[in-house]
Amino acid sequence: MIDIKNIGTRQAEFLQRAYEQKKLAHSYLFVDSDEHRALNTAYWLACLFNCTGETKPDGSCQNCRQILSGNHPDVLLVEPQGKQTLGIDQVRPLKEELAKSPVESKRRFFFINEAQKMTLAAANGLLNLLEEPVAPVVTILITNNSDQILPTVRSRTQIINFDNGEKPSGKTAILLENGFTKSEIDELGNLDKWDQEIKYFYQEMLEHNSLALVSVHKLSEGAKLMSEQRYILVRLKLLAEHDLTDTRKMLNAAQMLKDLIEVDKMRLSNVSLRNALDYLALRWK
Ligand SMILES: [Zn+2]
Repeated sequence: MIDIKNIGTRQAEFLQRAYEQKKLAHSYLFVDSDEHRALNTAYWLACLFNCTGETKPDGSCQNCRQILSGNHPDVLLVEPQGKQTLGIDQVRPLKEELAKSPVESKRRFFFINEAQKMTLAAANGLLNLLEEPVAPVVTILITNNSDQILPTVRSRTQIINFDNGEKPSGKTAILLENGFTKSEIDELGNLDKWDQEIKYFYQEMLEHNSLALVSVHKLSEGAKLMSEQRYILVRLKLLAEHDLTDTRKMLNAAQMLKDLIEVDKMRLSNVSLRNALDYLALRWK
């Protein structure tokens, strides 16, 4: 149930300021370990925009009620509905719908709940919508793990974090779990560029694409610090672990994890990153 009383207060204030200054972004990524709260906040914003009451949003005028009951033509929600993935089929009709002008208000709102479950195709299908929507629309992706959102998607959105920094979340938490120290994490800095290159490399291997050898060159040239070298291997391992949960990708993922253990052993006996990754790429050629 949508409840616009249970929202991220600080985040709502921020959005309200943006709205009043006419500076709302085209696309947001709401990151919240409590996805209900983030989704409520998205609906709160749609109500704020459309409310005809005195104190906006009142949640009780006709527009607000229509929005909150999921029946407003300009406020659309897509979610996996218990499924493991959110596919292109679910995103495509909305893209077509969103290309039209708003029915009742000046702007449309498009929410994707559990956005971390989007397939690669669905995420790629969204990119141009996130970048330059053809019609006035605010797209809000909601996730409990920004780390599972493609870097290409993340970089096109304004990220709003709901987890007040009380406990490490997303990337930092994952790095801490994998044995990185705080200072190493600082040393690593922005990982988006790495993540993208590592993801390409991983895909190329799975596709037996010989470009993987070119990626090895790029990655090992770029990774001068020991922390960066370790990050590449940890990230590859996480990609494979993630694929283990997908029945279609499970077999490859299991083999990849085995190979990565092999690579770890090579690294422990002082084989260079370049040689270790070359070994890996050749195994998958
Ligand atoms: Zn209202």
